[in-house]
Amino acid sequence: MPRGHGWAQSTDPRCIAGAAAPTGGPLIPDRVTLLADVAEIVSRSHNLDETLNNVVDLVAKRLDADVCSLYTCGSDLTLLRLSATVGLNKDAVGRVVLRLDEGLIGLAAEGKAPVVLDHAQQHPRYKYFPETGEERFESLMAVPLMFRGMATGVLVVQTVVVRHFDQSDVNTLQTCAQLVAPVVVNAQLLSAAGQTDEERARDDASLARSGVPVASVPTDSETRKRRCKGIATARGVAIGPIHLLSVPVDLDQLSYTPGADAEQEEADLFKALHDARLELDDTRDDMEEQFGPDFAAVYQTHVQILEDKGFVSKLQTKVRENGNALEALRSVLAVYRATFERISDPYFRERVWDIEDVGRRVAEKLLGVRHEIAQVAPGSIVVVDTILPGYFARLELDKVGAIVSEHGGATSHGAIFARALEIPAVTGVVGIQQAARQGEMAIVDGSEGSVFLSPDEQLVAEYERAQKRYAVAIQHLDAMRDRPAETRDGRRIRLTANIGLPSELRLVEQHGAEGIGLFRTELLAFAHRGFPEENEQEQLYERVVRALAPRTVTIRTLDIGGDKDVADMGVGHEENPQLGCRSIRLSLEREGIFRAQLRAILRASAHGTVRILLPMVSSLEELRRARELVEDAKREVRATGGRFDPDIPVGLMIEVPSAALIADVLARECDFFSIGTNDLTQYTLAVDRTNEHVAHLYEPLHPAVLALIDRSVRAGLRAQIPVSLCGEMASNPLAVPILVGLGIEELSATPSAVPVIKEIIHGLDASDAEIDAREVRTAGTAREVQRIGARRLRKAGLLEHVDLGAWLTPIVEEAEKG
Ligand code: PEP
Ligand code: MG
Repeated sequence: MPRGHGWAQSTDPRCIAGAAAPTGGPLIPDRVTLLADVAEIVSRSHNLDETLNNVVDLVAKRLDADVCSLYTCGSDLTLLRLSATVGLNKDAVGRVVLRLDEGLIGLAAEGKAPVVLDHAQQHPRYKYFPETGEERFESLMAVPLMFRGMATGVLVVQTVVVRHFDQSDVNTLQTCAQLVAPVVVNAQLLSAAGQTDEERARDDASLARSGVPVASVPTDSETRKRRCKGIATARGVAIGPIHLLSVPVDLDQLSYTPGADAEQEEADLFKALHDARLELDDTRDDMEEQFGPDFAAVYQTHVQILEDKGFVSKLQTKVRENGNALEALRSVLAVYRATFERISDPYFRERVWDIEDVGRRVAEKLLGVRHEIAQVAPGSIVVVDTILPGYFARLELDKVGAIVSEHGGATSHGAIFARALEIPAVTGVVGIQQAARQGEMAIVDGSEGSVFLSPDEQLVAEYERAQKRYAVAIQHLDAMRDRPAETRDGRRIRLTANIGLPSELRLVEQHGAEGIGLFRTELLAFAHRGFPEENEQEQLYERVVRALAPRTVTIRTLDIGGDKDVADMGVGHEENPQLGCRSIRLSLEREGIFRAQLRAILRASAHGTVRILLPMVSSLEELRRARELVEDAKREVRATGGRFDPDIPVGLMIEVPSAALIADVLARECDFFSIGTNDLTQYTLAVDRTNEHVAHLYEPLHPAVLALIDRSVRAGLRAQIPVSLCGEMASNPLAVPILVGLGIEELSATPSAVPVIKEIIHGLDASDAEIDAREVRTAGTAREVQRIGARRLRKAGLLEHVDLGAWLTPIVEEAEKG
């Protein structure tokens, strides 16, 4: 029976319990110098092969191993190739290629965990590669090179005599692998950029041999179906004529005759880069003026791409090689595109569209193409290949009813723009460019992720009715924006807004929110390239705070991890990210980033009314430690002469059941609660909020969730601290009466939901809602709770309300039917 173990967390002591005593090989004498030396090699790395050779050489010597090899994944992350070795046949380098489901090396990459075996050959996954001459080796320790949750290679050591690698051996090798991983990733991106067609063809052939499925292209008849499905990207409905926005420059279709002089081609290409840069500067300033700095920041990232040394030098090499400026641009872009498209992480993958956007801009300059603002009919449904940030500068946005794209997903920069501008959008609608005809009528349902081409009259009429009702209601309700939300019997409820980007401030004003109940700062990292620096954060926060003053802005500290991974924030792969190092846990682990954010928030507090909100607190210790860091940050700001609100309230999100259960204790040491029902529901019901397989079990109106809300509200009342609720539940019409009945004082919701919630509150009597809440406390199912909410809406006469009836009736009927 082979004895071995793979583990996800090298620090888990159970993984080595029961392991045999070492039977050979000395313990590692100088791990610290080994790591320092590997770090040194990595920091001086200019050439991947040389770096990897130096690393394996060093590791083999210091670990006293007979073999040390490094396998790297291609940019597709599906094949591992032997890239450096000492101890195996050197000729095998580059020739041994294996899939992730092959061999023990594949096992380490596939499982994203170390594989440690005393007797490697006895393991069922052992695979012999004759080229390597490795049959003499007995024990093996292989660790994956992890980068942003992806295995990008494997570092392995082997010994001739049986040797038992212990936990600290594994830790050391893992640290080496961690140091090497970024170099490998960078090199993959860059070397992919320099790949020749033959190399690419060879890779594709190995891919085909490996059985990795090739994406299928839908046939015409498939794409002609009336209903095209895509990714729901920005909510809202639009009905209007299709406007196929022609790709300004289709790099693949262009014919271009280069001049005879290669030097001139190079000069032309560099002039085009320069002109593109000037144009980008203008666009950035324009966008900043119209929509604010977070839009402008995206264009700034495009400037950075244009100035990226790797990008520019690849272009230079290519143009010198082939004497054709367009061809050089085309081939560099194609390789970048292919490289990014193969990355599994959606956020990282979608950065490809920024490179694409930049490339097209350069091509336009090269060819002297000038852009006019596209003439679109009012209410048009603009169909594009992908929602590129550049398109926003080329369209009259007030005439755009919706945007539909063939490619791309919900986290591209363009998608973020569409949401911030409240333009309904559906992305990733495969075949739409072919299927849709210019001027053809269509319906876009951005919440559903559907596009209906040439819909029949009945469907148009249905959507028109819903759209009109909604628009009229919102208009009417917006007109009441200055009225406070108060129940008929005089209970005042504060209605505030959830935002993620400063550009959403416009919506806060438009829909009459009384402040910001939740500023999700992690979204800044999606709009910008990584999380902004301290002074940039300070400016962003200050802008929001000043705009809202004297109204309150509740700024939540970084809530990263779980379903919100952010590039460059170093949230490594976790088996169970929702239960992992996310949110406040990560902030307390990365004190530097946290302190910087706290200082930025504190400085912004000098310009208005600010509260600090701590996400996902699950224990009193976390709250105390975070508060200590707030005090430290105050000292730091004071030391630099900065001004801030010394009494800035510090509150916490109740979104983990443990926090709700010890709410009394927490309430004594914080200044306010904000209940995050999105996470509270997922953690109470053990239902991943992002997993569609269990979506039917995700039920915020479950009595267990309501019991925890009830408990938290009461704890807040006893301690006399304010309690608000900022999850999606705040905008669920069935939940509003119940939450009022439970004593919630503030509801914070997406800005466009504020007017509707306000109208519901106006129609309620708090005393009736309290009676309902008592009934809810004894309810056994979510259905019962929904019916209680529905009954109240009906009794309060809200279904007959001119603006609300049509909007609420289907919800109420559905709840009553169940
Ligand atoms: C919540 O969990 O309810 C919440 C508001 O936070 P987020 O949705 O940002 O996790
Ligand atoms: Mg949350």
